[in-house]
Amino acid sequence: MPRPLGNIHPRFWGWVIGTGTPMGMLADMLCAGMNFNVGGGEQISNEVELQVIDWCKEMLGFTPEASGLLTSGGSMANITGLTVARNTKANFDIRQEGLAEKARMMVYASDQVHNSVDKGVELLGLGSQSLRKIPVNADYQIDLDALKSAIQQDNAAGHQPFCIVGNAGTVNTGAIDDLNSLADIAQAEDLWFHIDGAFGSLAAVSPELRPMVNGLDRADSLAFDLHKWMYMPIEVGCTLVRFPEAHRNTFNTPASYLAFMERGMASGNWWPSEYGVQLSRNFRALKVWMSLKEHGIEKYGRLIKQNVDQVQYLVKLVETHPSLEMMAPSPLNVACFRFTEHGLSDEQLSDLNKEILMQLHESGVAAPSYATLDGKFMIRVANTNHRTRSEDFDLLVEEVVRLGKSLL
Ligand SMILES: *Cc1c(COP(=O)(O)O)cnc(C)c1O
Repeated sequence: MPRPLGNIHPRFWGWVIGTGTPMGMLADMLCAGMNFNVGGGEQISNEVELQVIDWCKEMLGFTPEASGLLTSGGSMANITGLTVARNTKANFDIRQEGLAEKARMMVYASDQVHNSVDKGVELLGLGSQSLRKIPVNADYQIDLDALKSAIQQDNAAGHQPFCIVGNAGTVNTGAIDDLNSLADIAQAEDLWFHIDGAFGSLAAVSPELRPMVNGLDRADSLAFDLHKWMYMPIEVGCTLVRFPEAHRNTFNTPASYLAFMERGMASGNWWPSEYGVQLSRNFRALKVWMSLKEHGIEKYGRLIKQNVDQVQYLVKLVETHPSLEMMAPSPLNVACFRFTEHGLSDEQLSDLNKEILMQLHESGVAAPSYATLDGKFMIRVANTNHRTRSEDFDLLVEEVVRLGKSLL
């Protein structure tokens, strides 16, 4: 079928999907062939994963004492972090007692938070009413005063606030919350501070962009993807947890058939299955290890910066074109814009831009995705594509305008 998601075309900018590399493909083929089960034991795959986790901490400037786990992606990385948060901050033995008849445990995030956090909160048995979606400012960053008063209200109502989720790169616009202020609030209120940095946290890999994600290192847990802005083949994400004991205490569930042995195949110091949900796990660390060895971290920093510069180039094209308009600030590698025509209502423009996008997808000329903000449908580019050149955005703009005019 002609329209795969995550395709490797230089004009694929839909959702947030990395575009894969030959080395990543080779590594995944080797994994399938060697068939490691990276749930535990004493084997090289575990050492490679630990090495990769250490490199991730270094790349993002996270504390070297942290524990970590490679996950299927950002969703599982968020859920892993939130589970440690819930279990650590519960003021009772939640693993034994569960949540029945306890105070409602509350999570706070901006209304731009990714739906994997909604899923996580529901999976954890907290109920979606326990996720307080806080309004954002004009830059789509969480409103700190609204956050503080929500925490106060919940305390007064007898609920138990336990976790703030900060966004380092929201899915709609790439907005980065004020992470240091969130860390301060979490500290003052004795809450867990989780950051969803699925793609945005990787800005830290570029020395020029790193200041944008100041405060990343203050998270208690940090979730991010390697199959987005590190261009690795799907699947690989990562959770880092500041407190290794809390991390292990969340998932370590004794079983006689998995008991640690002093010698032989069931020895080894690090059993990944004690740090997450999965027991049988693939050797996803290999593609990360091989890719980092192949390219070196500076090159990733350059590519990440290149993607941001390209999107800033697109923003300029949009801003200077009379038939186009930017729809949200564009601090990073995401741009939301639409075709516009004097005299048309927002509703008409939404329909028009939807049709432009459908025709872009169906013609195969370019693959942005979409966002809806304040009820307005817009075209959205998220550039995690190392094959893109600036000229690709010239063509996108040309096509959007051509389609828009032909549809009027
Ligand atoms: C993509 C994304 C996720 C989910 O990650 P997956 O790897 O798709 O599971 C979470 N948060 C944000 C901000 C994302 O962009």
